[in-house]
Amino acid sequence: MNNPNYQKAFFLLSVADLSQLPPDEGREVAIIGRSNAGKSSVLNQLTQNKKLARVSKTPGRTQLINLFGLDDTCRLADLPGYGYAKVPPAMKRKWQILLDNYLRSRECLQGLILVMDIRHPLKEFDQKMLEWSQQCDLPVHILLNKCDKLTQSAASKTVREVKTALKNFTNEIHVQAFSASKGKGVKELRACLDGWFTS
Ligand code: GDP
Repeated sequence: MNNPNYQKAFFLLSVADLSQLPPDEGREVAIIGRSNAGKSSVLNQLTQNKKLARVSKTPGRTQLINLFGLDDTCRLADLPGYGYAKVPPAMKRKWQILLDNYLRSRECLQGLILVMDIRHPLKEFDQKMLEWSQQCDLPVHILLNKCDKLTQSAASKTVREVKTALKNFTNEIHVQAFSASKGKGVKELRACLDGWFTS
């Protein structure tokens, strides 16, 4: 199987519940992060296509799962994320059910890209996603984004600290520094995605 060409990503559809998802076939990789962690900027950097991230920011679509095709069999699923603590309980509940069901039932799901701000890693939202991924034995690739805001040594220190904090998780978890603005770490991200989409 060939590696997908991420620059050829195209918008497929937005779904509000799982029954609307495309057939559970091929391979899907999901991406999520608290609002403002830089998920849209990561998508921009990966696909070199500002239109995709704009879709995900369109009012009304931020609470949906937005799906992007890469080729006939591979898809990226942009999952809704937000500032977890500020969300009203009813919305939190709805979000939890959607995400929980998606992560548990989606058989074509190969892994999860979890975007965090390197200056504020492992917030409650991120912990929740990591717990779920462990329960589903789903591999996670963590992008500690905005590493351009730190010195190289401070960024490396945070990468080490996050790895240490997660060492007891039983699922596969990778951690890397990333800068969506500067394009730093894109090669490593692509290598991880290529593995999930083709192995
Ligand atoms: P989203 O809400 O997670 O989709 O986040 P956005 O992609 O909209 O980014 C939120 C803010 O962080 C914007 O002002 C971006 O310009 C900024 N941002 C995103 N990635 C980076 C990065 O790697 N470095 C820096 N310095 N700023 C970034």
